[in-house]
Amino acid sequence: MSRKRWVRWAVGTPLVVLGLLVGLWQLSRSWTFQLFGELHARVETSEKVVALTFDDGPRPGQTEAILELLKRHGVRASFFMVGRNIERHRELAARVLAEGHQLGNHSYSHHRLIFKSPSYVREELDRTDALLRGLGVEGELLFRAPNGKKLVVLPWLLSRSGRKHITFDVVPRDDAEQDVELLTSRVMESVRPGSIILFHDGGQEKPGTVKAVDIVLGRLREQGYRFVTVSELLALGGR
Ligand SMILES: [Zn+2]
Repeated sequence: MSRKRWVRWAVGTPLVVLGLLVGLWQLSRSWTFQLFGELHARVETSEKVVALTFDDGPRPGQTEAILELLKRHGVRASFFMVGRNIERHRELAARVLAEGHQLGNHSYSHHRLIFKSPSYVREELDRTDALLRGLGVEGELLFRAPNGKKLVVLPWLLSRSGRKHITFDVVPRDDAEQDVELLTSRVMESVRPGSIILFHDGGQEKPGTVKAVDIVLGRLREQGYRFVTVSELLALGGR
């Protein structure tokens, strides 16, 4: 190999590999694009309507506090539950359903579903589906990927069974911090008609989340917004 060709190869190959890795990373974390099937980060609508979603529960203490708050505001939301948490706290999961909220599948063990085999991913979906059906959930079972991460296998499996993958367009990051003012302002700055808002009722203690949701519900209602489940929001899309 001539010196010139060798230099071109030595510089070019790592750049191509780096470019591919960056592309894969971007693809895995995109809220609005996946290779197969339906992905919804929000819906197009002129109506002032949003869907509030809570991930990672059910978790004793936190989930009840959110339920009380939603009841006080007369709001129904969507809870993307982790299968193993449903197993641990079955009565609490059943209470969420009984209070009129939508339950969705957020995997069984909350491991990132990238670089995993199809059989592993299918098991993560199926176990939580079975737990949700066992609670009495009827109709379509929406899915949300743990950490919002997906590459090829997960979207492919979801699309094969005609399932919708639900992400979000309003992310206050309450899993990372609990500053009420910050969480509230992040929602109010990015919310718009058709938004899907991501909060968490699982994981660490989240007193800031409860306060921020309380404030956000009040402010959005003042602005004329109403609140629906994700399936209800999807049904409004395009109108
Ligand atoms: Zn999660």
